[in-house]
Amino acid sequence: MAKRDYYEVLGVAKNASEEEIKKAYRKLAMKHHPDRNPDSKTAEGKFKEVKEAYEMLSDAQKRDAYDRYGHAGVDPNMGGGGGGAGAGGFGDAFGDIFGDIFGSGARGGRGAGPQVYRGADLRYNLEITLEQAAHGFDTTIRVPSWDTCETCHGSGAKAGTAPTTCSTCGGHGQVRMQQGFFSIQQTCPKCHGTGKTITDPCPPCGGAGRIKRNKTLEVKIPAGIDDGMRIRSSGNGEPGTNGGPSGDLYVEVHIKPHTVFQRDGDDLHCEIPISFTKAALGGDIEVPTLSGKASFSIPEGTQSGKTFRLRSKGIKGVRSGYAGDLFCHVVVETPVKLTEAQKDSLREFERMTSEGGAKHSPQSKSWMDKVKGFFE
Ligand SMILES: [Zn+2]
Ligand SMILES: [Zn+2]
Repeated sequence: MAKRDYYEVLGVAKNASEEEIKKAYRKLAMKHHPDRNPDSKTAEGKFKEVKEAYEMLSDAQKRDAYDRYGHAGVDPNMGGGGGGAGAGGFGDAFGDIFGDIFGSGARGGRGAGPQVYRGADLRYNLEITLEQAAHGFDTTIRVPSWDTCETCHGSGAKAGTAPTTCSTCGGHGQVRMQQGFFSIQQTCPKCHGTGKTITDPCPPCGGAGRIKRNKTLEVKIPAGIDDGMRIRSSGNGEPGTNGGPSGDLYVEVHIKPHTVFQRDGDDLHCEIPISFTKAALGGDIEVPTLSGKASFSIPEGTQSGKTFRLRSKGIKGVRSGYAGDLFCHVVVETPVKLTEAQKDSLREFERMTSEGGAKHSPQSKSWMDKVKGFFE
């Protein structure tokens, strides 16, 4: 199902102020709250939708990402197409490649005081070839990094002003909410757990206290890596809040389709077209592997569809450490564009083999027998 626009969900304009967003959220959250609508799946879905929209739009950084890249910029479920950075490099294309934020990973600070949050994890989609996957390789990627804002030294407040203690939570970062019979302690919606409010945000960083930049990271892709596997780069995700640890960066490997081989785990499969004379007479055939050529011989009378297994010519598994096998699927090719002379010799050949009856084509014989039974 297509996701609704976050502004539409909250019923606010694109340029709505923080206050308007908050107001709209409160109203809708009250209306659709599960406590008020027990057993209503629709209300539950609406509540979640509203909550997500608010979480995204109430965070200056996330709202910015959403405004620029839409859902792909913030949606935890969107994979990001990978690549697609265009000619300009992907310095500005985070929405396509990044923007994938796995669970925001709040790890609550204990007791009183502002909440400590672990930074969000980031995912980087890396497209590689089958050869690179088989042999492993080193590469560099450009990833976002965050520097403390030089103008405000990380406080987020405009020069000459200072963050003030949050009036909603009194600086604790948490508030108690009465919900039916329960009193629930939750992160302060006004300051998001920081315990401070910035009335005059620092212009360069927009009050975030940090500025996004890029850095180059070296990645070692181990030999044998398979499609969808991830390499974790600890601490290279988004920075934490209130001294919380940074998230991690996950490099997720995507293997491009290969022109010759299909991979299945550590095994490789390929199709080998052979002439029908070679299939009939047998002989040696040369096949490509990911590490040079290999050859094997096929016996006389090889049928189309026959599979030959070349042991240990597959990919050495990144986990198992053993090489898989290469499966060669033989396809007998019917000759085309024959000259009259060639056709004549085939007719001659046909005449000679049909004298031998079913001996030379047992499959056709048994098929004919079945068909005969079918018509009688
Ligand atoms: Zn600043
Ligand atoms: Zn607060």
